[in-house]
Amino acid sequence: MKTLILGAGYSGLAVATKMKPAPNLESLLIEQNAYHVFYTRLHEAAAHNTRVTLPLAPLLRGTGVQMEQAQVDVVDVDAREVTLKDGRVLTYDTLVIGLGSVTNFYRIPGLYENATELKQLSDADEIFTFVNRAFSSEYQGQRDIVVGGAGLTGVELVTELAQRAVLLSKERGLPPFQIHLVEAGPKILPVLDDALRAKAMQTLEEYGINVLTGHRLMQATADSVTVQTSDGTQKVIPAGKIIWTGGIQARDIVRGERIEKGPGGRIAVDEFLRAKGYPEVFIVGDMGLALNQEGKPVPTTAQHAGQQGRLTGKNIMRLSRGDELEPYEPTTLGEFVSLGGLMAVGWMKLPWNQKLAMTGGLAHVMKRASEWRWRVSIE
Ligand SMILES: Cc1cc2nc3c(=O)[nH]c(=O)nc-3n(C[C@H](O)[C@H](O)[C@H](O)COP(=O)(O)OP(=O)(O)OC[C@H]3O[C@@H](n4cnc5c(N)ncnc54)[C@H](O)[C@@H]3O)c2cc1C
Repeated sequence: MKTLILGAGYSGLAVATKMKPAPNLESLLIEQNAYHVFYTRLHEAAAHNTRVTLPLAPLLRGTGVQMEQAQVDVVDVDAREVTLKDGRVLTYDTLVIGLGSVTNFYRIPGLYENATELKQLSDADEIFTFVNRAFSSEYQGQRDIVVGGAGLTGVELVTELAQRAVLLSKERGLPPFQIHLVEAGPKILPVLDDALRAKAMQTLEEYGINVLTGHRLMQATADSVTVQTSDGTQKVIPAGKIIWTGGIQARDIVRGERIEKGPGGRIAVDEFLRAKGYPEVFIVGDMGLALNQEGKPVPTTAQHAGQQGRLTGKNIMRLSRGDELEPYEPTTLGEFVSLGGLMAVGWMKLPWNQKLAMTGGLAHVMKRASEWRWRVSIE
């Protein structure tokens, strides 16, 4: 059975590391980078240049999975062909697609052209370089930062940047820059409950971050954004760096007559995470539209991508033995949001569907523990 796994992110790498060598199984992982990126720590790389990658080759030892560093151009699930950017065409018996998501700029004028994303290492490098430049004595330009989107990524980024600004300010004797967090919705971190959100809000205020909820980003230029409130009032905020974390959509790379897409361009899957109408194609992570026990879309998170990947890796082994597939049962074990340094807020699941809320150092430890759990699961 010839199996191709596309992408070595949270879902694809979990698939590969759950596989074992088998006589009738030939497996190849295609990934554009030679390393796995801990996306959940990308904000730390942006603020502090922290190392957030792990080389892939050692992780695949003992799995029977070969790896090729290449870029996928298009996947044709009717022809059962994967075309690479270098023109080569690969065929498969079983395909796993875990190529993640891309930033959604919602066609806001000037945003794509002028904003930095936080989706890959090069974005983190660009932000880190700006922060250093803004704290050099020769720098004459606009220093303030506007971050669009107050979800998990936006909040983790602004708090980490604010913490870095405090350090640099002391070290270099320059005033910190102003950070504006712009959010069209009425509240930050909609995934959290009110008490945890209030704690996060208090931390943002203590850092002096200007939180503009209920402000829609209307336009971006090279050095400013225009925001608008619900009553139509507009204001222009000057910015040396604009960062957009306000939305994602599934990577649009799969072609197939029977492919069904849902919100965010995610591909509808059955209970075994196979694309509807294509039983030989598994879609895992941000690209797939899996439903939970209540029939609602499973969130696009590392936690769920990892669960889906682990199950799919095991299911491919079952397929190779001719065994029945195991269905996907999503669980959310908790959610933690880091708020700069050793501060975090979040909750973990307890028995009988109870939630244990945590703030401060303990929540930070839990967030780190979930990252270590992921690391142990792939090593
Ligand atoms: C800054 C940031 C912070 C986040 N924080 C959290 C958090 O705290 N908790 C949480 O649960 N989730 C968090 N997430 C979301 C989480 O990272 C995603 O849900 C998760 O990465 C999705 O996993 P995936 O396998 O679908 O895609 P990814 O992990 O994005 O992996 C996709 C892989 O495909 C590769 N790839 C893409 N295109 C191609 C191509 N054409 N050819 C070859 N290879 C390709 C990429 O290099 C990558 O390795 C965060 C995301 C970001 C960006």
